[in-house]
Amino acid sequence: MKYVGAHVSAAGGVENAPLRAKEIGAQAFALFTKNQRQWVAKSLTEQSIAAFKSNLEFAGIKPEHVLPHDSYLINLGHPEEEPLSKSRNAFLDELQRCEQLGLKLLNFHPGSHLKKIEEADCLSCIAESINWALDQTNDVIAVIENTSGQGTNLGYRFEHLAAIIDQVDDKSRVGVCLDTCHTFTAGYDMRTTEDCEKTFGEFDAVVGFQYLCGMHINGSKAKFASRVDRHHSLTQGELGLDVFRYIMNHDAFNDIPMVLETIDETIWPEEIQLLYSLIE
Ligand SMILES: [Zn+2]
Ligand SMILES: [Zn+2]
Repeated sequence: MKYVGAHVSAAGGVENAPLRAKEIGAQAFALFTKNQRQWVAKSLTEQSIAAFKSNLEFAGIKPEHVLPHDSYLINLGHPEEEPLSKSRNAFLDELQRCEQLGLKLLNFHPGSHLKKIEEADCLSCIAESINWALDQTNDVIAVIENTSGQGTNLGYRFEHLAAIIDQVDDKSRVGVCLDTCHTFTAGYDMRTTEDCEKTFGEFDAVVGFQYLCGMHINGSKAKFASRVDRHHSLTQGELGLDVFRYIMNHDAFNDIPMVLETIDETIWPEEIQLLYSLIE
């Protein structure tokens, strides 16, 4: 089974997100459990947690098909001690919020070396951050998202994802989310079925599909291998529809949340329908 949805707003409280997902016909969704542009947030209240759980049930969406996204401020590979420790604490708080909501996944961008440390050292630092946070939590899986490689962001090569996973102690609690726009602009072509076979074959060889815990389903405004992160609607931009047909028809993408982060949210219901219509 395929579980498709979108990154919906949690404005007014996390408990509103499952209702917004249901409204657009989603069977999966992503959300921020706190303001993604601020360090500190109020704790989730008991009422909000209870309402989230009952709304999730009402929406008919399983907790394992929810893919929360962490704050954009967090850099788990930060080369300096104080901001690194601030990032680690914020990441731990994000994991704890997921646990409170009964969720199993937390999606995050791996981190940036800021031209101050070597790539390999930054990747080790990210893995150490993950180990530190997982040690203090019970069962949420840390889901590393691949990036476009914009600026000094790591995670744009499958080898980066593999290097982090390799250094995480508990392999049962680490996974990967592939973003179609990021994969493409990082230099992995997916415009034809042959390109998809090559790219996803390489992913399986380097990382392994057993680690795939989610997908971000986006078109790309930015050109192939541009290392620029600019999402587009599915039927527009540089990618074309073949990649989405490929994903919707391959078992490797079964039973994981597949989340739209496309730019025009007014057409999310149509985009979700479109994806399901590609199943042959
Ligand atoms: Zn994404
Ligand atoms: Zn992006």
